[in-house]
Amino acid sequence: MKAAVLETYNNFVWKDVPSPVVTKGEVLVRIKFASICGTDMHIFPGDFHPRTSIPFIPGHEMGGVVESVGEGVTGFEQGDKVAIDPIIWCNDCPACKRKHYPACTSLKLLGVDMDGGFAEKISVPPHMLFKTAPHLLDEHVALVEIYGIGFHANNRAKTKEGDTIAIWGGGRVGQVILQAARTKTKGTIFLVDPLENRLEIASKYNDNVVIINPKKENPVDAIKAHTNGQGVDIAFEAVGHAEDIEGVYTPIRSAIQSLRGGGKVCVLGLSDEPAPIVFKELIWKEAQIITSRVSDGEFTEVINYLNAGVLKPDALISKVMPGSQIQKAFELVQKEKEKYLKVLLDFS
Ligand SMILES: [Zn+2]
Ligand SMILES: [Zn+2]
Repeated sequence: MKAAVLETYNNFVWKDVPSPVVTKGEVLVRIKFASICGTDMHIFPGDFHPRTSIPFIPGHEMGGVVESVGEGVTGFEQGDKVAIDPIIWCNDCPACKRKHYPACTSLKLLGVDMDGGFAEKISVPPHMLFKTAPHLLDEHVALVEIYGIGFHANNRAKTKEGDTIAIWGGGRVGQVILQAARTKTKGTIFLVDPLENRLEIASKYNDNVVIINPKKENPVDAIKAHTNGQGVDIAFEAVGHAEDIEGVYTPIRSAIQSLRGGGKVCVLGLSDEPAPIVFKELIWKEAQIITSRVSDGEFTEVINYLNAGVLKPDALISKVMPGSQIQKAFELVQKEKEKYLKVLLDFS
């Protein structure tokens, strides 16, 4: 089979590799589409070394069709359309023993810690596979994983009907938090991002969204003005590396300031830099800080909403390219990171 092998950092080679053979207890999946993730953009130049060791095949957001089923596997048959959950819990650490899987101390991912899905085929155990309706577009199946992150964040924050929400960051993660929140509440959702293309996508594809460009208006003032001075029930921080904007506090501090009394802030933005917060601003509201990492079995919830046509996966897709052009795709995203949400690779 053909696969995109990261032979040296910054250099993919589209080449023949031995095809996986289906073994006892595994399912062989023919990959249709895989999606490039922010993590992949860090793996590409070697930021994840030595966690990643080259040569290897990245790719952890992918979907496909079952090609063959190994001995002893039930519940799957040839032709089933499936999304692949790339997460491998250790099942042995204190977090796993408490069933708090995203906190697993030795969490591993297909396409990060071992070969993944930027290839024509992959063989995985059936518990990593989630069937979708046959009518779902193959492109959309590849987005189940990223949607899982948005649903998990909302489940962590316990978003419920009537809640008003503010989201800092309108990139891939911010957009899936937004769409997942929309399935749980009809309340107003504020999206804060300095990039107009992201704000436009958010309001074009989702109802009752108020977009805020922090370069044009102070987001906390704008949110207070829209909520009778109250603030929102839940604020999500999905920025990570924040751009310095004059007169505007960091996203995490602004998110806290945008809360109503008793509100919750849920943090997803990954950064190695300290992000100062003023605890008084939390304590006076008895507000809670929650964090959210990866997903935890939300694939079924995501697929139900995708099958029903509730989610808007086209909002996330910026470009589709053949798998053989993976090097070009990565260079494009590297050069103009802000232009793209999801770039999909076609391996079919
Ligand atoms: Zn990812
Ligand atoms: Zn564990």
